Amino acid sequence: MENRDILIIGEHLDGKLKPSTLELVTLGQRMAEQGTRTLGLVLIGDHLDGVCEDAARQTGLDILYLRVPGCDYYNGDIYKTLIQAQAVAWNVSHVITAHSSQGTDYAPGLAVRLYAACITGVNGLEQTENGEPLFSRAICGGNFNTLIRSQSRCTVLTVQPGYFPARDHVDKPGQVSTETHECVSETTQVMGMEKARAAASALGQARIIVSAGRGIGSEENLDVVRRFAALFPGSALGGSRPLIDMGWLEYKHQVGITGAVVSPDVYIACGISGSSQHIAGMNTSGYVIAINTDPHAAIFNVSDLCIVDDLVGFMEAFETLVET
Ligand SMILES: Cc1cc2nc3c(=O)[nH]c(=O)nc-3n(C[C@H](O)[C@H](O)[C@H](O)COP(=O)(O)OP(=O)(O)OC[C@H]3O[C@@H](n4cnc5c(N)ncnc54)[C@H](O)[C@@H]3O)c2cc1C
Repeated sequence: MENRDILIIGEHLDGKLKPSTLELVTLGQRMAEQGTRTLGLVLIGDHLDGVCEDAARQTGLDILYLRVPGCDYYNGDIYKTLIQAQAVAWNVSHVITAHSSQGTDYAPGLAVRLYAACITGVNGLEQTENGEPLFSRAICGGNFNTLIRSQSRCTVLTVQPGYFPARDHVDKPGQVSTETHECVSETTQVMGMEKARAAASALGQARIIVSAGRGIGSEENLDVVRRFAALFPGSALGGSRPLIDMGWLEYKHQVGITGAVVSPDVYIACGISGSSQHIAGMNTSGYVIAINTDPHAAIFNVSDLCIVDDLVGFMEAFETLVET
């Protein structure tokens, strides 16, 4: 496969291409449209022929399958070694990875190896007058966005999910080239993978999600949120990560970058500040309602209806209204 300017690192799980890969491709395509840049999509692992064919069909891009016999699980060291070699071989300007547990694991180390800039959590693309890309990312718990220009020859990006929607299906599939590498990690060995105890199926199917955040104040107030959610048929209960960390809700309820990524028709955020990690999990919801005592809460930036109020008082008043 001939050299490419932008190296996109696809993600896969259980023999399937992860949808995040298509979002990385969208960012790459937008960068290619800004300048004359070419894209290559790389998949790393073993037994990925079907995944690569699928990626070539869904993206229309040529796929480089870096096959590592025996590499059935993600290993950060192997990824860094192979991506570094590929980035150097192609002399790429950018490496695009997902802002996922994998991407955030290897991207900084990869950037060090490549003497590259590392811009994490990219949520937007702009350009200078000269057509140079500018990347935005959220800071201060999502209250501000910064715009960053890389000053390095090569830049490693991790892309926040939900900000670069996958583009429509392409007619002509790309070509798959396979290279086999005997590559082992000298530092770590992945022994296996276990699915989390519970799947977020209820959240995935619900048309309305009522999510509770630390602003509920106490575990007892979850009952108020549950009663409020029960007023909406077909709704499910979600939560921000602190509630899961405190043991108030099970992990299957967590919404966000390390929880479920949901797209219900209506998302009601109750006492949730709107960190970038939470927003990444609900950003594609249809209509967002937020209840928060802080009128400057970041969640209001992504809300269609902003209710500045104490959530318990609001919910109890709403319940009374519905009952009468
Ligand atoms: C690697 C990593 C991954 C993460 N993954 C996730 C993830 O998947 N999902 C996730 O949610 N977080 C995640 N986090 C945590 C995230 O950074 C935030 O800490 C978390 O989202 C904050 O949760 P919160 O909004 O409930 O709490 P807070 O930020 O404490 O916000 C509480 C909000 O409640 C409001 N409030 C207080 N009292 C009331 C009241 N009486 N009525 C109404 N509003 C009130 C406050 O004004 C405030 O805005 C992650 C963090 C890291 C570092």
